[in-house]
Formats: sequence, structure tokens, C-alpha cells
Amino acid sequence: METSIRTLVVEDEKRIADFLSRGLESAGYTVELAYDGQSALDLIHGADYDLIILDLGLPDMDGLKVLERIRNRKTSPPVMILSARGNVDDRVKGLEMGADDYITKPFAFVELLARVKALLRRGQPVPERLQVGELTLDCIRRKVTRSGDVIELAPKEFSILEYMMRNPGRPLSRTMIVEHVWDMDYDGLTNIVDVYIRHLRSKIDDRYPDKMIQTVRGIGYLLEMSERAVAAG
Ligand code: CA
Repeated sequence: METSIRTLVVEDEKRIADFLSRGLESAGYTVELAYDGQSALDLIHGADYDLIILDLGLPDMDGLKVLERIRNRKTSPPVMILSARGNVDDRVKGLEMGADDYITKPFAFVELLARVKALLRRGQPVPERLQVGELTLDCIRRKVTRSGDVIELAPKEFSILEYMMRNPGRPLSRTMIVEHVWDMDYDGLTNIVDVYIRHLRSKIDDRYPDKMIQTVRGIGYLLEMSERAVAAG
């Protein structure tokens, strides 16, 4: 039997730690938990992990300190930072210090798992910059432009657009969008998706002749690459 992926989850919020641990275990991974930075360092010192999921806001030290110590070791596994800080500086700093990916709370477990799998497959990190037609999205600096114009988005709008840009031309149901973008405990008022799509359209599409966000009747929405947008991009 293949040995399972050995994961260390460093997270002081017990609810999230348990949630992650259950999810990863049901995906076939072995999971150990550390609730603070020092226990994480002790565990890392005594074992080789294949993957570390690291919260930045720990009770005894900054998660970035833990990251620094991990990176100073001879064998250094991929690290996925998990943080409530949406702050651009923290994201950039975390990645500069050698984190392999960064996910902001609240997150959907499917998203985390997809990114964890991508990290483990490695070579390829999750792309940091997405482009669909004339629309670009910088995942790290959380900056969106269309035809070079900077577009300011609220965090949820950004997450929805990022999800759509990772799946261009693919119809996404309201449920898929909710599961992907909202808190893991979100229990499903899918109409809220319509509200957010309306906001997104006013920012992404209203000022431009080509409308990129299309309604797919009976399903949800898709992000289209118009002929012109494709040619321009
Ligand atoms: Ca925390």
C-alpha cells in the first residue's frame, strides 16, 4: 500500500483545525495538528512532513517566524499559508519568504484541497496571474484590470471573479460559486450570488462594449472570452 501524504496543520482555532484535519483525512492524508508555533517547530524537528499548512496568526509567535525556521531546515516541504489577513504585504511577504501558496480565510475546503494537490504535484505552482481576454487578475497583489484600467473589487467579488477566470467559458452554477467562494459553513442562499454578479457586472462590464459575464439560463453564469477580447489578448 502506498504510504499516505504526511501533513502538519498549524492552526490555533480548533474549529478550523478539526475541519481541516477531517477533510484531509477523508482525502487520504495523514494529519497531525499543532495549535501553536512552538509545538509546530518541535514536531517539524522530529519528523519529515510532505506538506505543512500554516496559519499566520498563532498565539505564541508570528506564523512567518515558523515559516522562516522551516525554510532554514535541510529538507523543507511545501508550505501553504492560511490566514485571515487579506493584507497584500502579508501575502507578498509570505511568498517571498518561501511559502508555496497562500489561501485567505474564509475558504472553501474544495479550493484548499485543489491547491494542496497542485502543490504536491509540483513543478507548477498555482498561477499567480490570470488572464482572460482583456481581463487580468493578479492573485497575489489582488489587483484586477480590464484593458489596462484598474478595477477595484470587494473581497467576495474578487473571489468570484478569480473562480470564473480559472474556469473561462465553463458554466458555473450558483451552488458551485457559493461552495467555492463562501465560508465552509455557508448553508446556501444562492440568490446572494446574483447580487454579487450584479456588482461585478457593474464594475467589469458596464463601461465596455463586450460583456464578459454571461447568464446561462437555468444554471448560473459563465465568463466569456468574446471574439474581440480573444483577438486583443
Ligand atoms: Ca489563528
